[in-house]
Amino acid sequence: MTTSSSQKETLGFQAEVKQLLQLMIHSLYSNKEIVLRELISNASDASDKLRFSALSDNTLYGGDSDLKIRLAFDKAARTLTITDNGIGMSRSEVIENIGTIAKSGTKEFFNALTGDQAKDANLIGQFGVGFYSAFIIADKVTLTSLRAGETEAVKWESAGEGDFTLEPADKKTRGTEIVLHLREGEDEFLNDWKLKSIICKYSDHITLPIVMKKSEWKDGEQVPTDEDETVNKASALWARAKNDVTEDEYQEFYKHVSHDFENPLAWSHNRVEGNQEYISLLYVPSKAPFDLYDRERSHGIKLYVKRVFILEDAEKLMPQYLRFVRGVIDSADLPLNVSREILQHSKDIDAIKAASVKKVLGLLEDLAENKAEQYQAFWSEFGRVLKEGPGEDFANKERVAGLLRFASTHLDTEAQVVGFKDYIARMKEGQEAIYYITADSFAAAQHSPHLEIFRKKGIEVLLLSDRVDEWMLGGLTEFDGKKLQSIAKGDLDLGKLEDEAEKEAKKQVEDAAKELVEKVKATLGEQVKEVCVTHRLTDSPACLVAGENDLSGNLERMLKAAGQKTPESKPTLEINPAHALVERLKSEKDEMKFNDLAHVLFDQALLAEGGQLNDPASFVKRMNRLLMR
Ligand code: ADP
Ligand code: MG
Repeated sequence: MTTSSSQKETLGFQAEVKQLLQLMIHSLYSNKEIVLRELISNASDASDKLRFSALSDNTLYGGDSDLKIRLAFDKAARTLTITDNGIGMSRSEVIENIGTIAKSGTKEFFNALTGDQAKDANLIGQFGVGFYSAFIIADKVTLTSLRAGETEAVKWESAGEGDFTLEPADKKTRGTEIVLHLREGEDEFLNDWKLKSIICKYSDHITLPIVMKKSEWKDGEQVPTDEDETVNKASALWARAKNDVTEDEYQEFYKHVSHDFENPLAWSHNRVEGNQEYISLLYVPSKAPFDLYDRERSHGIKLYVKRVFILEDAEKLMPQYLRFVRGVIDSADLPLNVSREILQHSKDIDAIKAASVKKVLGLLEDLAENKAEQYQAFWSEFGRVLKEGPGEDFANKERVAGLLRFASTHLDTEAQVVGFKDYIARMKEGQEAIYYITADSFAAAQHSPHLEIFRKKGIEVLLLSDRVDEWMLGGLTEFDGKKLQSIAKGDLDLGKLEDEAEKEAKKQVEDAAKELVEKVKATLGEQVKEVCVTHRLTDSPACLVAGENDLSGNLERMLKAAGQKTPESKPTLEINPAHALVERLKSEKDEMKFNDLAHVLFDQALLAEGGQLNDPASFVKRMNRLLMR
């Protein structure tokens, strides 16, 4: 790229931009009105930015602090023009903001594209369409901008294909002007009434006035006069009384603050008075954004002070595990010149955050209790994020835990889930713990041999197979006084779930297998901590069990895969004397064959729980020897 700025030059779009433009034009052509929403939203953001910068440098206004957005059209030229007197963009900002896609996570987004238009259209909504949506209705876009405080304006122009041009412009007034040269057939955007109704529909909540020329009827046609009129309500939506805001308005406002394309799932609008005075309007989206797992992302809650936009900061206003929440908090108490540094140590902010978290949890509890289907939808999008909660938010641990959902042996598919409360309600008589198993996939959990005795007795076990589950369990050891108990760790003590006769029978089996157990232990040597008779298995010959205080096998594998050191711990091998293979082992007199069989038992137990063999080649050799006998 050249650095000269005195003449016209042509630059290529970043490859992704080209792809994005194509995708957008093809997938969103049936939803053209959103173009205005996006451009007005940008103009509004630009004005917010100017206001904020001007708090510390009043000269940026250059005598014009009357911020507004203007819409005008020219029938003859077939153009639609959107003008703002916000912060504007310098030449390099234009290149950076609308020649590339600076958003983090962009690569992941493009990797997720399938080539199937219907599916990709959905994805693009999550990505956010923004400025480029202009090309849905325009075959050429001319943007002219003068950055506040600067003197040299820049003109950007593109047909939305491979490249754009940049040249100096003689714009004298601060801000940005965007001219859309409408495509053939897009004449509805040259209609006064139509434009005004789109503004009312999508942009009523914008705090800035959106002005157009008043029109009058002449010869059966509407023609613009010289007089301005404000088309939108231009009052902060969140500051209005709940009764004065319609469902549609809440939804449109959500799309503005979230840059999301879809309607939100639920929201909570609160005016708080007393010690702290503030308004919060918090939304739960219906779809996860493409960069939900990108910890660098900053979008989240917008902080306003007395209607003036201050900053957008997810972490200070919402904890990480609620990072999907979008919305606005408008404080009446904070100073207007509040900075990130001040926020970091502000008790006021801490109090607002704590109260807002409770609002969101309340909103989710309400969905869970009263709108099962919506909660299910929420859970499948954001459940894994919520699972970070018990470890992160000590104060609300029990409430967050109450919102968690898990697959279970009492349900058929991975998508069906149960919460702790319902699990406890259907616990067996005498059952004292909440049983779970962790594995690296749903299928591995569902088919784990450890479940056999629980299945036989009809005891429900939660099947945990998200990566985050192990981390969650680190912060959550009980719910409502009931201990969370892994069925793959420690001694299996079913407590009152077993009667005396069963306990006696167990002892007899153990005694009968004593010699065998010792022999297997001697054979496997260093590979195991212990060998013992199992009471978990009914159909499988053997399984591995971790110590009560050891890492589970699953967690150990995850940590190793992440390159972390794990403490040395050996599993206990439990064998099932009732199984034909173990019976054969018992009667095996040949040392060599006994040795093969014992090792195969250990190795297959490791494989069954998703582990990797230390020495796969030896396993195969032994297996083959056994098969050929
Ligand atoms: P988003 O609004 O989600 O950031 P857009 O594609 O809508 O994405 O806009 C990209 C960027 O271009 C904005 O973040 C902003 O920096 C810049 N921009 C767009 N429109 C304007 C405008 N009217 N005034 C100043 N900057 C703008
Ligand atoms: Mg935008």
